[in-house]
Amino acid sequence: MKTDFCVIGGGIAGLSIAAELSKKASVVVLEREQDIAYHTSGRSAALYSELSAESTALALSKLAKPFLLSPPEGFSQYPLHIPITCIFTAKKDELEHIQSNAAKLENPVTLDIDQMLEQMPILRTGGDGIIAGLVEEDAFRIDVGALVQGFRAMVKHNGGAVQCNAEVTSLTKNSDGWKAQLANGESVNSKYVVNAAGSWGDVIATLAGVPPLGLTPFRRNIIIFDGPENTDVSQWPAMASITGEYYFLPEAGKLMGSSADEVPSEPCDAQPEEYDIALAAHNIESVTTLEIKHIHHKWGGLRTFAPDRQLVAGYDENAEGFFWFVGQGGFGMQTSAASARAAALLALEESLPKEFEDAGVSAEVLSPIRF
Ligand SMILES: Cc1cc2nc3c(=O)[nH]c(=O)nc-3n(C[C@H](O)[C@H](O)[C@H](O)COP(=O)(O)OP(=O)(O)OC[C@H]3O[C@@H](n4cnc5c(N)ncnc54)[C@H](O)[C@@H]3O)c2cc1C
Repeated sequence: MKTDFCVIGGGIAGLSIAAELSKKASVVVLEREQDIAYHTSGRSAALYSELSAESTALALSKLAKPFLLSPPEGFSQYPLHIPITCIFTAKKDELEHIQSNAAKLENPVTLDIDQMLEQMPILRTGGDGIIAGLVEEDAFRIDVGALVQGFRAMVKHNGGAVQCNAEVTSLTKNSDGWKAQLANGESVNSKYVVNAAGSWGDVIATLAGVPPLGLTPFRRNIIIFDGPENTDVSQWPAMASITGEYYFLPEAGKLMGSSADEVPSEPCDAQPEEYDIALAAHNIESVTTLEIKHIHHKWGGLRTFAPDRQLVAGYDENAEGFFWFVGQGGFGMQTSAASARAAALLALEESLPKEFEDAGVSAEVLSPIRF
């Protein structure tokens, strides 16, 4: 098979950049697993929160927001966003973080103990407990299924292909471009390779003879548990520690929570360990009156960061036609629409729109050459 762009990875990164590229070029997405979004993209908390992001990730989130709120006609039959209020909480020794984070919001609303208990009656407050909160009113949940399927449909609609069970086992450069050899015996010839392999980004680089960037996958673990007896939690806000010790939010009639942990890992099919699950339950119990007796479901996923914890999008300087699109970290969903647009323009060697440059998202800022 011959194509302009061979995109390796069928997570949100690969599908979103392929959707953008397919508007102007031929593209094939290769995904090792039986289906798309099996790894990190199928395991996220699916939240859009500007207070959680910083620097380029924050700028890209803001640039992606209009797409998530109002996607192009025909992108998905379902809304991509479901509004939810986020309340970031602080204990006595964390108060300064409330002030510094409030400065990031246009209309910051801070809450005292009584106001917080009105919104979240199970909080442990006062003394060593929570004493203040900061509200992010226009956060939202993202319908990840609708988002990834929308990008996949866009690739197909524009004449591209998404192949699953297509593990790339070698990448060789020749005079016409690149040849990706697959474990299933097939091969794909392309002018350009896009490395959107998430946690395996450095593995793919090594296959291509390109120096790795030093990406680190960090496992984050999630538990699903019950709210208080006889309580409808479905309209509860999302609660999160301002210093990243816990979060929990409603999920299909139950609560989903995490210790917001970052356990360094090899790229793999991430699974939570017993300690991780106990820590998540402990951290949530320590800020609430809840007793988590039963974990209904648990999972782990790898949030993969570049050394400066910001997105990498650009051609490698050591290997012609090898394009990096990695380091989405903990923001791959909420930044996807904007980061894919920027990355696709760079891959097509076009300039970024003025709104991106004005927001501080330039080719230099995204480039792998910064390392
Ligand atoms: C617990 C958790 C909570 C999160 N919460 C949020 C959140 O609230 N909001 C948010 O915006 N983001 C969140 N994220 C982050 C977000 O999920 C990631 O940034 C994003 O999914 C990364 O997507 P990706 O496509 O780079 O990686 P992946 O989804 O892992 O995709 C990479 C793909 O490459 C494939 N691949 C690897 N090697 C090969 C090969 N040799 N051949 C073919 N295919 C290959 C893999 O099989 C994989 O499917 C969270 C992540 C986790 C784990």
